[in-house]
Amino acid sequence: MRITAIYESVESIASDIQNAYINFSKMTCSVVAVVTDQIVDGKQVVGYGFNSNGRYNASGILKDRLIPRLLEADPSHLVGDDGYLDPHKAWDTMMTNEKPGGHGERSVAVGVLDMALWDARAKMQSIPLYQLLADRANREPDSKVWVYAAGGYYYPGKDIAGLQDEFRHYLDLGYTVCKMKIGASDLSSDCDRIEAALKIVGEGNLCVDANGRFDLETTLSYAAALKQYHLFWYEEAGDPLDFEIQAALSDAYDLPTATGENLFSHQDARNLLRYGGMRPDLDYLQFDCALSYGLVEYYRTLDILHEYGWSPRRVVPHGGHQMSLHIVAGLGLGGNESYPGVFQPFGGFSDELDVEQSFVNLPSAPGLGLENKANFRAMLVEAFGNQITI
Ligand code: MG
Repeated sequence: MRITAIYESVESIASDIQNAYINFSKMTCSVVAVVTDQIVDGKQVVGYGFNSNGRYNASGILKDRLIPRLLEADPSHLVGDDGYLDPHKAWDTMMTNEKPGGHGERSVAVGVLDMALWDARAKMQSIPLYQLLADRANREPDSKVWVYAAGGYYYPGKDIAGLQDEFRHYLDLGYTVCKMKIGASDLSSDCDRIEAALKIVGEGNLCVDANGRFDLETTLSYAAALKQYHLFWYEEAGDPLDFEIQAALSDAYDLPTATGENLFSHQDARNLLRYGGMRPDLDYLQFDCALSYGLVEYYRTLDILHEYGWSPRRVVPHGGHQMSLHIVAGLGLGGNESYPGVFQPFGGFSDELDVEQSFVNLPSAPGLGLENKANFRAMLVEAFGNQITI
């Protein structure tokens, strides 16, 4: 097995949405195609990967360091004892001569290639990735995955009506739990928005997300006000690396919280569990493989969770992409974020999948099945159609 070429492209993932911290008007995304010399069912095996939303493309690191390392590696350094491409060995090759710590957006670049390597690996065995992961874990994959609709943005000039219309649309699509942004306005008007949202989704079905905007005092003043609403969870109140804020929130708020989408390594995840005061019977963890060194690193993060007494069912990854959907079903995590209609063509799942009562079924195509999403396929043809047959 040899990797014969790796193509990389930068695509727009721009949208007009905004959270408490950033707008997405110039958001970009790296996409790669990892081409192998393997032929399965008459077709050359090519793996595709991309990074999750919220971080910009990692083109420089991909082109300067990671792709050359994979292409220059002795093939024996990429292949496992079973003769197949081994993403764990490829990970070690990519991370050669990289110092620990200070992960920056190197973790994003590795996550892009890791996704493509797992896609190729599962295609080589002609099975969906979740089946490969479940087989390796000696378990049956979950037959469907719990998903919630993330959105709930601010609508200048028509805030309440816009928010309610958005959530009505998500309920029509089959979701029961929805998430809205808070922290871009003051507490009083956010409470008005929350009360308006609850009228549509019902008590117990609403998450709120501050995107790490709050200082300690604001975190706690929101916590005091939010208690009355019995929210599904209160997400990323303070800075993702300020574990003292998270610990103070746990002390003051006896309902579920969620965080972790901006922690990019198993070491960062361990620090959250050590110092963030999070409660394994109540809270949710949202690490996103496509931002944080990929699935190879995610296995290490899940080992840390186990060590600290957390069930994998408390993990609901950020990002709303199909890689996490496979990991959730294959490894038995708790669920997956979903962004209906946003961050296209990278967000969302294969076209043939349906959401019912906030559960989505799973794709049957080999690998990730990204080519079965029409707008993703069109993007691939546009980006790589001159070099490979999509
Ligand atoms: Mg979030």
